[in-house]
Amino acid sequence: DKVLVSGANGFIAVWVLQTLLEKGYSVRGTVRSAAKAAHLDSLFKAKYAGKWEWVVVADITQEDAFDEAVKSVDGILHMASPFNYEITSPEAAIQPAVQGTVGILKSATKFGPQIKRIVITSSIAAILEIGDMSVPRTFTEEDWNNQAPALVEAHGAGAGPLVIYCASKMLAEKAAWDYLKDNKGRIAWDLTTVNPSFVLGPILHEVKSAEALNQSALDWYRAVLTPDSSDEKLAREPSNSYVDVRDVATAHVLALETEAAGGERFLISRSFYVYQDWLDVIQNILPSIQGTLPANISASRLAALPKGVRGAGKAAVRSIEFDVRKADKVLGIKYRSVEETAEDSLKDYLGRGW
Ligand code: NDP
Repeated sequence: DKVLVSGANGFIAVWVLQTLLEKGYSVRGTVRSAAKAAHLDSLFKAKYAGKWEWVVVADITQEDAFDEAVKSVDGILHMASPFNYEITSPEAAIQPAVQGTVGILKSATKFGPQIKRIVITSSIAAILEIGDMSVPRTFTEEDWNNQAPALVEAHGAGAGPLVIYCASKMLAEKAAWDYLKDNKGRIAWDLTTVNPSFVLGPILHEVKSAEALNQSALDWYRAVLTPDSSDEKLAREPSNSYVDVRDVATAHVLALETEAAGGERFLISRSFYVYQDWLDVIQNILPSIQGTLPANISASRLAALPKGVRGAGKAAVRSIEFDVRKADKVLGIKYRSVEETAEDSLKDYLGRGW
């Protein structure tokens, strides 16, 4: 089978490409320019000869942007969407998120009668309403983040990049389910969304410096591996939840393959943390992984890692929970340990000489 992956050069997407290719799928990736495919070719072209190809889709906000790309594929994973905190206007995030999503569904309707399933990378951002965090609440796939679009409606750019991003993901996912409802009789494929929490872990995509990391990995790198990060802030940083990028990639492939996943959203999350928890995990594992570290990681670099106040994360108050049982049950997701994510990220990032 052949699978189309949009935004193929992104952090999560390159792990998805690798997972699909390892499983024997043929893969077509979309990138915004040919230059962005060079690194992907270096990873996959020789190793998976004849199974890997890419096409340029320069502007996903154009309604017919994906018309050619969807031809002759059996499934689609739509991942292209802006995620960064440099977003300055609601339109800059919401237009590509919503129009890109609806556009790929329209192209699949017109030119993909053979397509069986479309999986959209949504987010916890489409589910979680931060609201009053002191009120205990468990979020499930039944929940929708109506708060973020309302805040953007009320405050425009003043809502800030994070809220704008959340609104873009909520509106894009909502638009996808609405499209499906409105076009029921005309389409052969079904729809699944994967809604991960913060995605962390080692990287396969092209990143030339730490500052060029994608947003979620950059936050982790700054807090956990940057020598001068502020100890105080780390212990108090509000609770976040994460999932390893390799588990997210596997979840996407399972979402594509699992019959019972059609028509479902899947909340994917490993556990909550404050950054101090990661500092503690790294200090705990360092003695046992010392001998396996890349040779270019110096002892002084390791000694300079922030330590914070050991155990201070335990005092963090968290009132919200995520119910991830549906993904466990239907997809059979197995999550990596926190230690594995920490070890592999540390080796990968520091091994690059950053
Ligand atoms: P990356 O920033 O690494 O990748 C984003 C991808 O989307 C890139 O291919 C990028 O292309 C493309 N893209 C961004 N903006 C546009 C645009 N305006 N038009 C066309 N393409 C665009 O991020 P991630 O891998 O983290 O994100 C991938 C998906 O996962 C997104 O849908 C994101 O919302 C979602 N997600 C991410 C989470 C995380 O914590 N990382 C958590 C939950 C969901 P280019 O390189 O050309 O900019």
